[in-house]
Amino acid sequence: MNATDIEELPGVGPATADKLKDAGYTDLMAIAVTAPQALADAAEIGASTAQKIIAAAREAADIGGFETGEALLEKRKFVGKLTSGAKALNELLGGGFETQAISELFGEFGSGKTQIAHQLAVNVTLPVDQGGLDGGTIWIDSENTFRPERISQMATALELDPDETLKSIHVARAFNSHHQMLLAEKAMEVAKEYNARLLVVDSMTAHFRAEYIGRGALAERQQLLNKHMHGLLRFGDVFNAVICVTNQVMAKPDAFFGDPTRPIGGHIVGHTATFRLYLRKSKGGKRIARLVDSPNLPEGEAVFLVDGNGVSD
Ligand code: ATP
Ligand code: MG
Repeated sequence: MNATDIEELPGVGPATADKLKDAGYTDLMAIAVTAPQALADAAEIGASTAQKIIAAAREAADIGGFETGEALLEKRKFVGKLTSGAKALNELLGGGFETQAISELFGEFGSGKTQIAHQLAVNVTLPVDQGGLDGGTIWIDSENTFRPERISQMATALELDPDETLKSIHVARAFNSHHQMLLAEKAMEVAKEYNARLLVVDSMTAHFRAEYIGRGALAERQQLLNKHMHGLLRFGDVFNAVICVTNQVMAKPDAFFGDPTRPIGGHIVGHTATFRLYLRKSKGGKRIARLVDSPNLPEGEAVFLVDGNGVSD
């Protein structure tokens, strides 16, 4: 089975192909990562047919199986590094924000999480030899803190065309946690069209935190966050993209996690994120980033600056 086009999938005739395309399933990857019922509804086919089509698309798109260590090492060779704009911060991360991984920025309000995300969205448009990934951004905004004006400022500081930079960023507001998860799925479908090499979810945890309150809701919240993060990780894998998510620290001690400087989301978020940066404010616009729990880098700290031009040393 080596279909390259959705019409070549078994069970997809011309009529079904048209319906699928109308519903946005324009390539194998979009079908491979969708849920059977969603596909069944879109193409007005039975659930079992949908399942077969998805299985064939997965095989053709080469996802979902086991991989050897050798194959994984080969894939690691394609890992890209996106510059943060600050050399010290890049060094802390082993060269920059890695693709095929989730990088979590956590810290209190004003610590620079959203600023770094804006800077990454500008920098990702740079060519590879300048620390970019020559791509665009998909931005899921749950707190209404994306600011196009700030992007323009940062782009101008790098002598980039602000309008071109803004055109490369695709922003969607997430109105609740369920919607946020839907948008993450939607991102899989549009990533290719947008040439997205960066996915930002700012904030990843705010809606979950607001909606699932108290001990009774904790298990469900963690389960959904887990699912959400694995979806994000898959995006990073499939599109060789940087995933940047933000997470607040709790303002007051939590019944479960106690420590007020612990990020919310607990173990689930901590274990799924590949790189965790704890940000805190310092004097004169300076910020301190601490790398915690990295799989292959030592813990350490870096000082960086946030000013009118963006993130720098
Ligand atoms: P929250 O948890 O509230 O979302 P955050 O960690 O996302 O917080 P940011 O929005 O990244 O916080 O940081 C805001 C800070 O960034 C401001 O307090 C200010 O110090 C700095 N900042 C933002 N824009 C500019 C600018 N144009 N010039 C200089 N500094 C700026
Ligand atoms: Mg913010």
